[in-house]
Amino acid sequence: MAEIIDGKAVAQELRNSIKAMVLELENAGISPTLALINASADPASAVYIRQKERVAAAVGIRTKNYTLGPKAKSSEVANLIQELNADNSVHAILLQSPLANHLSFRNLVNLISPDKDVDGLTTLNQGRLFSGEPGVVPCTPLGVLHLLRLVHKELAGLHAVVLGRSSIVGKPLAQLLLNVNCTVTLLHSYSQDLEKICRTADILVCAIGKPEFIDKDFIKPGATVIDVGVNRIEVDGSVKIVGDVCFDKVSEIAGHISPVPNGVGPMTVAYLMHNTVKLACCY
Ligand code: NAP
Repeated sequence: MAEIIDGKAVAQELRNSIKAMVLELENAGISPTLALINASADPASAVYIRQKERVAAAVGIRTKNYTLGPKAKSSEVANLIQELNADNSVHAILLQSPLANHLSFRNLVNLISPDKDVDGLTTLNQGRLFSGEPGVVPCTPLGVLHLLRLVHKELAGLHAVVLGRSSIVGKPLAQLLLNVNCTVTLLHSYSQDLEKICRTADILVCAIGKPEFIDKDFIKPGATVIDVGVNRIEVDGSVKIVGDVCFDKVSEIAGHISPVPNGVGPMTVAYLMHNTVKLACCY
């Protein structure tokens, strides 16, 4: 049976060290502050924002919450971002995705100053990651790499297969894994022979948003499986959260596996706090 990677416990340790850093900054007269912008009617986004506020409060980071709602005009979101860019008391800005359909996430996120771009999603920060320059790296891939480092003393030479190529998870994670000298295969919805390729993976990271898509036929015995997916399904009339991986079946064959919930999710939020502190330090 696979060993379970307890993302919740690892995230708690990380949060403890972040709390200590926040105290040091406070003593130096800097109060790390994160602005959270929500312009959608997505109920999950509201939940995620509340989680982020809770964790921020627990580590001593101040938050400013801007709930603009699903009818916000693009100009309204743009003006808010410009105001926050100019506000010296704000160190980090997060534009929660998804946005309402009429808004362009790419256009709006690019208005965030790269020095306050806490999830590393501006074109400048993404370019820095891909060209090996220092910058802000997206939170979820940082969290995944952290978990992988705990399992594998040496990542160099391992075959890592990343399923999903979004700008927020798959692509930056593939780059981080390349940076630590993994052999990386990035799969997407046009990829052929998915199952066969996944079975060659020492490390399999799933970020496609398809409930329990990955079963044991995709897994090389002993592989490390990281499940990024967060999917809401209905079971017996109530909503259950599951990942992209069929946890019970895959646990029988994998070496290590991260669960959903309590795997990557808490790591993402912890790295959001980590990036906020990093941006506040640069101030
Ligand atoms: P996304 O932007 O929708 O991207 C999904 C990716 O999966 C795309 O690259 C897509 O391929 C690929 N894909 C979809 N169906 C596929 C299939 N059947 N076979 C192979 N590839 C397939 O999603 P995302 O934002 O990266 O999020 C992915 C999942 O992770 C979601 O469940 C999301 O909720 C979750 N998530 C969790 C966290 C966390 O902290 N735990 C953070 C972020 C996201 P194409 O590019 O070809 O369309």
